Amino acid sequence: MEIKENYSLKKHNTFGLDVKARHFAEYYSVDELKEILASDIARNNKLLSIGMGSNLLFTGDFEGLVLHSKIKFIEKVAEDDDFVKYRVGAGVPWDYFCNYMAMLDYSGAENLSLIPGEVGAAAVQNIGAYGVEVCDLIDSVETLELDTLKEKTFNVDDCRYGYRESIFKGDLKGKYIVTFVNFLLKKNPSFNLEYGSLKDLASSPEDLTVSKVRDAVIAIRKDKLPDPENIGNAGSFFKNPVVDTATFNALLEAYPKMPYYVVEEDKQYKIPAGWLIEQSGWKGKEMGGAAVYEKQSLVLINKNNATANDIIDLAAAISASVKEKYGIDISPEVNYI
Ligand SMILES: Cc1cc2nc3c(=O)[nH]c(=O)nc-3n(C[C@H](O)[C@H](O)[C@H](O)COP(=O)(O)OP(=O)(O)OC[C@H]3O[C@@H](n4cnc5c(N)ncnc54)[C@H](O)[C@@H]3O)c2cc1C
Repeated sequence: MEIKENYSLKKHNTFGLDVKARHFAEYYSVDELKEILASDIARNNKLLSIGMGSNLLFTGDFEGLVLHSKIKFIEKVAEDDDFVKYRVGAGVPWDYFCNYMAMLDYSGAENLSLIPGEVGAAAVQNIGAYGVEVCDLIDSVETLELDTLKEKTFNVDDCRYGYRESIFKGDLKGKYIVTFVNFLLKKNPSFNLEYGSLKDLASSPEDLTVSKVRDAVIAIRKDKLPDPENIGNAGSFFKNPVVDTATFNALLEAYPKMPYYVVEEDKQYKIPAGWLIEQSGWKGKEMGGAAVYEKQSLVLINKNNATANDIIDLAAAISASVKEKYGIDISPEVNYI
């Protein structure tokens, strides 16, 4: 067990901000994690679990202990005629798992291909794309409780999943570390092709494989989203706001071309935050070293050695102008630390 001091987090956040952790430790097993958590440093400092840092905005140095899982194995634990169950370490890169399942032609994760990050965070964040959320394929989430160092498994229903929400981001935030996630994949592939240009694939369903759908998702994503290896970013900076029917009807009357998704007919409607931001005139705009990505206004980028404050100021200015123009609050999807 090694706990590093004054450790640079530049490689551990996809905005590429040069911030430091007072202490930093990586662990390869649950026992090693327990050992770290029993140390004086862990007991006397605030703790933060991170994955790949692809949804974090460090607002400054972290004056505590940052923990990062290196639990990296993937194991098949059960199987019947229809489903196969895999137990996956929290430190496995999410897309490595997606690729592995695609190679075996097991379906469920293909629409979530190429989402950056690690498996543990995927279960915290309830990642989603192209009509699929990771909770659709989660069976259970294995954790370690920080206060007691006891292991606890949450069944999917206990995780209280919602749009980019879970109990681990809500009531139990900071109380449990995800160590493993158990996934159920379909052995007889069925696909969700309702979103965007994935619809094109539906015309020849007999030729489809999990890998083909995965490849299509990857192509769409590469075209639309900046690769954090080249341009610092954390994906969608804001959540898409969900509004009630009265607000929705008033907006649609004022802006008949407004795109939207029905969440629940006559109850809730989702408005794309990227559209609201673009229509408020922010596309490509810069503030300090931060900017709104030209190809997708929902993404804020580290264009030119941005500081955390550049990004925070830009996000605040965008929220304020969307509120002023549309009367809607947009809230960050990115976790401010
Ligand atoms: C280019 C780009 C595209 C993206 N596209 C999408 C997308 O399509 N859909 C989507 O949903 N997201 C998307 N994201 C956001 C991001 O990929 C996800 O939120 C991802 O799950 C974050 O994983 P991570 O390992 O980087 O977690 P981090 O950013 O390091 O952490 C995220 C949260 O999880 C907590 N956490 C991390 N690991 C653990 C653990 N083991 N136990 C307990 N808590 C933990 C952290 O404390 C933090 O609160 C995108 C990001 C980028 C940069």
